[in-house]
Amino acid sequence: MKLGIVGLPNVGKSTLFNSLTKAGAESANYPFCTIDPNVGIVTVPDSRLEHLAAIYDSEKIIPAAIEFVDIAGLVKGASKGEGLGNKFLSNIREVDAIVHVVRCFEDDNVVHVDGSVDPIRDIETINLELIFSDVEILERRIAKTTKSLKGDKSLAAELVILKKLKDTLEEGMPARALEWHTVEDERFVQSLNLLTYKPVIYATNVTEDDLEDDGASNNHVQAVRALAKEEKSEAFVVCAKIEEEISELDDDERAMFLEDLGITDAGLEKLIRASYSLLGLISYLTAGPKETRAWTITKGTKAPGAAGKIHTDFEKGFIRAEVVKYEELMASGTYTAAKEKGLVGVEGKDYVVQDGDVMLFRFNV
Ligand code: GDP
Repeated sequence: MKLGIVGLPNVGKSTLFNSLTKAGAESANYPFCTIDPNVGIVTVPDSRLEHLAAIYDSEKIIPAAIEFVDIAGLVKGASKGEGLGNKFLSNIREVDAIVHVVRCFEDDNVVHVDGSVDPIRDIETINLELIFSDVEILERRIAKTTKSLKGDKSLAAELVILKKLKDTLEEGMPARALEWHTVEDERFVQSLNLLTYKPVIYATNVTEDDLEDDGASNNHVQAVRALAKEEKSEAFVVCAKIEEEISELDDDERAMFLEDLGITDAGLEKLIRASYSLLGLISYLTAGPKETRAWTITKGTKAPGAAGKIHTDFEKGFIRAEVVKYEELMASGTYTAAKEKGLVGVEGKDYVVQDGDVMLFRFNV
C-alpha cells in the first residue's frame, strides 16, 4: 500500500513524514531500503506475528508495510503546471490513498501561507488544484468519446458518467463524493484514475493539549471531521511535534510517554487504522521456519488472489489452501494439534480470505 502525504506548506507535513517513517522503521526487518528521501517504508504493528513466529520457531518476521511518499510543493497553481506542479500531481496519481495534513494548531511563530488558521479553506485550496487537473482530463475524454460515439452506441453510457463527473467537479465537489449504482460504472470511474477519486484521510495537526480529548474541543478539527464524513473520507487527530518526540523513544519509554499524554495510540497507529478502514484492508498470515509474515489484501479477496500477493505463480497454479484461524491455532499450540482437532480447513478457489487466517497454499508450477 502506498500513501501520499499532501498539504499546504508549513502545516507540518515534513515533521509528520519524518517522525512516522522513523518510528515505523524501528522494527524494519524489511527487504527493501529507502532510495528516495521523500519515500519511507513503515511496518504495520501486528502482535500476532510474534506469537506465531514463536510456535514455528521462525528465523524472521516480516510485517506488512506501508510506503509513504512526502508530496511537498502542492501549492496554488500546481495544476497549471507552474514550477514542479505537474510532477506533484503525477506523484499523487500513483498512490492508493492521500493523507492530507491540515493545520489546526495556532502558533504565531509558524507562518501560515494564507495568513490564518482555517483548515476548510486550506482543504479547498488543495482540492481545487486536484479538481482543475481532473476537469482537464474529463474534457479531453468527453471530446474523444463524443467523436467515437457515432460508431459505437455503447459509449453513450460512458459519456453520461463523464459529464456527471465534470458537473460535480465544477461545483467544487471531489469525484469520490458521488455514488454509482452498478459495479461497471464504478469500475469505469476507477479506470479514469482521477485525483479527486482517491480515498482521503485528513490528518488534523493539533497542539499537544488537543490530544487528550481527541480534538473534541478544537472547532477546526470538528469542521474537518464533518467535511470528512460528508465526502466519505476519514479524519484523525495528530500532533506532529509530539510525533517527533515519540519517534526518538524506545518501546517502553514510548508507552509511558503516551500514558502521560492520556492517549493509547500514537499517530502511526491511528493512521494505519484509518487507512485499513478506509481502503477496506485486512491481513492474512503465513508462517514457517524461515519466516512469519503478514500480507495485506482487500476485504472480499478470494484465496487465489491472496496467493497472488506472494507470487503470481501461486495465483496461476492455485490448487487449494489450508486455512486455520490465528486464534484457533494459538489455542491448539501447534499446527499439527490444530489439524488433529479438525481446525485446519481445506479451501478451494472460491474461499473468501478473512483477517487473521493463517494460510498455506498448494499450487502447480
Ligand atoms: P511542511 O511545510 O508542511 O512540511 O511543514 P513542516 O513540517 O516543515 O513544519 C513547518 C513548521 O511548523 C516547522 O517550524 C514545525 O516545527 C512547525 N510545526 C509542525 N508541526 C507542528 C505542531 O504540531 N505544532 C506546532 N506548534 N508547530 C508545528
